[in-house]
Amino acid sequence: MESIFGVEKLDIPIERRENIIEVKELNKWFGQLHVLKNVNINVKQGEVVVVLGPSGSGKSTFIRTLNALEEFQQGQIKIDGIELTDDLRNIEEIRKETGMVFQSFNLFPHMTILKNISLAPIWVRRWKKNKAEQIAKELLERVGIPEQAEKYPGQLSGGQQQRVAIARALAMQPKIMLFDEPTSALDPEMVKEVLDVMKTLAESGMTMVVVTHEMGFARQVADRIVLFDYGEIVEEGTPEELFDNPQHERTKAFLSQIL
Ligand code: ADP
Ligand code: MG
Repeated sequence: MESIFGVEKLDIPIERRENIIEVKELNKWFGQLHVLKNVNINVKQGEVVVVLGPSGSGKSTFIRTLNALEEFQQGQIKIDGIELTDDLRNIEEIRKETGMVFQSFNLFPHMTILKNISLAPIWVRRWKKNKAEQIAKELLERVGIPEQAEKYPGQLSGGQQQRVAIARALAMQPKIMLFDEPTSALDPEMVKEVLDVMKTLAESGMTMVVVTHEMGFARQVADRIVLFDYGEIVEEGTPEELFDNPQHERTKAFLSQIL
């Protein structure tokens, strides 16, 4: 079944679905700094994985590596069955399948909201302008700001701009959405409107990997939580397992600081 965001929503239980992200023995260094250490993780189609961990633990590097925004030195990454290599065509394929939303919204300031959303589909997907703009309008409707189409980013609030950034990523019809602290730069009163869009997206069947410090969102929306520390996955489990019964000292220490 096609959901409102264009992804296929599966009725089969998560355990029986295909892996859409496969990461095996991933190692990455920045010079001397061993920033990702033997990271192993699979994500099922439609699964929502929240990545937690202290600042500097490698969360951003990890999700940027999934999207080929960072190189890695050892291990294997497969996105929807496509192995990530340094072949440019292959990187392009993977980028088409993965949308990314950053802490800073990175909209093009000199373009209208509609242009911001329709630009990449026109260039990369080779859609006609009409089709791309039609889909951009539908997406603006779905993120709750259809009336902003002709405005410029600077005329919108932070929360609205981040919803545009989500719409822009969705316009490429990705199968996976990666979020890196999407609400960290927002004023507190705007956090909820962005989290609500992300929650709707999760419910629509999108596969999502979300780095966030929003524990309410993590508990409510995540199927699984992974905790990074010093570039390693220290612990993973359901929200209940991780929050109510953490096994590792480092998880307990992290949770005691933020909860
Ligand atoms: P997190 O997102 O969990 O805060 P990051 O992935 O941003 O952590 O960073 C992990 C570590 O890698 C940190 O020590 C950071 O300083 C370092 N780092 C991040 N990006 C670079 C880079 N481009 N060059 C060198 N070191 C980096
Ligand atoms: Mg980060």
